[in-house]
Amino acid sequence: MPLPVIGRFAPSPTGELHFGSLVAAVGSYLEAKSRGGRWLLRIEDIDPPREVAGSAERIIADLQRLGMEPDGPVLFQSQRLKSYQQAIRHLLARELAYPCACTRKDLPESGIYPGTCRTGIAAGKQPRSMRFKLADEICEFDDRVQGRVMDCPADSSGDFIIRRADGLYAYQLAVVVDDAFQGITEVVRGADLLDSTARQVCLQKALGLPTPKYMHLPVVVRADDRKLSKREQADPVKHQDPTHAVARALAFLGHQAPSACSLQALWDWALEHWDRQLIPRSRSVQYPI
Ligand code: GLU
Repeated sequence: MPLPVIGRFAPSPTGELHFGSLVAAVGSYLEAKSRGGRWLLRIEDIDPPREVAGSAERIIADLQRLGMEPDGPVLFQSQRLKSYQQAIRHLLARELAYPCACTRKDLPESGIYPGTCRTGIAAGKQPRSMRFKLADEICEFDDRVQGRVMDCPADSSGDFIIRRADGLYAYQLAVVVDDAFQGITEVVRGADLLDSTARQVCLQKALGLPTPKYMHLPVVVRADDRKLSKREQADPVKHQDPTHAVARALAFLGHQAPSACSLQALWDWALEHWDRQLIPRSRSVQYPI
């Protein structure tokens, strides 16, 4: 029997909900709910220096106003630190993680970690971060929008950080632990995270966790090709009429909804007509904001 579908939206509370994150919310919601599945919300609040006070509450309220209600309590990653620590212990016990003494200036310009501390820290140096020891193998998966992806993280990123020098857990580790914890079967998110996925699949294997299905939506770019960031405050969704905002996100995802209907009627239409084949198969799409 196929697993019940469980999707999620996992924003970092670093600013207002903007059009780019709304697209990920709408896509993940419809992909789960149109198949009778559940949709969960996870606030990825594990990087306090980047967070904006009140942002998590505002994102939660915006989603509700837009008609997206999670099917369960909101999970806050700041409450999950013990699980991340446990995952690191599991990796250390299997010699799949190691402490690293390198600072940013020790790394090559490419950003690809050359494995300096893999076999131990040089005399006189102090451990700073923790890295995951990658096997030299190719990871392949079928992305539901972007198609077949092949990546060898050992070459494209090198052993990557799972706990930072400032003691904070890295996104790559936390996302993998929590997608499994929440039983997520479908990860729908922006294509800016496509290059992280192979690393996440490697971590899942090392931790004995299942690999969900992946679907990376094109990211919204402005005419000058820059991705919209929350910090740029590109027209926060909270200033827009909810029906209009959802209809625009649907249009970006290739779905032309009937105009002049209520928010409820729009969602009813979207749940009935959602078809992932209509989503543009590219990593980014220019869109007037
Ligand atoms: N928290 C990440 C962000 O806001 C998304 C993580 C994910 O969907 O895997 O960009």
